[in-house]
Amino acid sequence: MDQLIIDEIKRIVQPDNVFVDEPMSNHTTFRIGGNADVFVSVINDHEVVDLIDYLKKNDIPYYVIGKGSNLLVSDKGYRGVIIEIGSNYSGIRIIGTEIVAKAGTAMSRLSHFAMENGYTGLEFASGIPGTVGGGVIMNAGAYGGEMRQVVYRVRVLTQAGEIKMLSNSEMEFEYRNSKAKKEGYIILQTEFRLGKGNPEVIEGIMKELSAKRREKQPLEYPSAGSTFKRPEGYFAGKLVADAGLKGYSVGGAQVSEKHAGFLINKDHATAEDMYQLINNVKQKVLETYSVELEPEVIFLGEFA
Ligand SMILES: Cc1cc2nc3c(=O)[nH]c(=O)nc-3n(C[C@H](O)[C@H](O)[C@H](O)COP(=O)(O)OP(=O)(O)OC[C@H]3O[C@@H](n4cnc5c(N)ncnc54)[C@H](O)[C@@H]3O)c2cc1C
Repeated sequence: MDQLIIDEIKRIVQPDNVFVDEPMSNHTTFRIGGNADVFVSVINDHEVVDLIDYLKKNDIPYYVIGKGSNLLVSDKGYRGVIIEIGSNYSGIRIIGTEIVAKAGTAMSRLSHFAMENGYTGLEFASGIPGTVGGGVIMNAGAYGGEMRQVVYRVRVLTQAGEIKMLSNSEMEFEYRNSKAKKEGYIILQTEFRLGKGNPEVIEGIMKELSAKRREKQPLEYPSAGSTFKRPEGYFAGKLVADAGLKGYSVGGAQVSEKHAGFLINKDHATAEDMYQLINNVKQKVLETYSVELEPEVIFLGEFA
């Protein structure tokens, strides 16, 4: 990318948080992905607003990420600017009856904060390895819980550059989707409304869920969690297993032997390995059960 553009970006945000030719494998839980032209880790709303305003005015492509725990980035990387709303953009406060979290706050940190302060409702999120922003936009969920059950209001930046407060119903949450996702809004902050509970009981539930994850999920390998959405009336993992695909691999990418819903980076997988594996699994399940699997994982960049 042109040095003048990089210099301008460094004037808008903290220059120490701007990285050129940054490997995206360092910023995704798949541990896969080529270089982003520029990677910026933002620290506050002003940086996000000013940076996006500049990038839009200059027709420079950008993409917002959290912890990259639901992303497959191309081996060719990303031509443009990756904006990370992550640990540099985190913080939690209690205001009245709400817990307010900045978008880059880790969901596990938020769940533990809620537990320590005697709030119940976020136990399900304690093992989801993403940020509040990524979780809210995806309506992340597990073990019967979903973000839509606990979100009260969300502060977003719209494509038109306006900051808006959306209520829970205005977020139009759906299974792994939301209005903010469809409209390309950026999540800046979220207010959660939770019930009061006993911290020891809440901690007990969190420990139980975390033990279930360790028992059922291949957490020892890089992945993006469940690769496919749950098809109506089925479980993706069961379909993949029943199609005989447990352990099936393309290059270094493999259908986990432990949980067939997880496609893992078994051994230095490339993005193309994973992309091919996803397509082959989709094809085989379609042929065997006439069910079309839809990836939950989001693809970024060019694939063959
Ligand atoms: C081991 C493992 C277990 C998992 N278990 C679960 C689970 O139980 N349930 C579940 O739902 N998911 C699960 N996931 C998937 C993933 O953690 C969630 O989808 C999570 O919500 C993604 O958050 P993130 O911050 O990593 O987002 P990213 O992966 O960085 O981004 C995902 C999408 O969100 C967008 N995004 C991120 N931050 C923002 C923001 N601030 N504003 C606007 N858009 C934004 C990105 O543009 C992208 O489109 C799991 C993943 C792993 C690796």
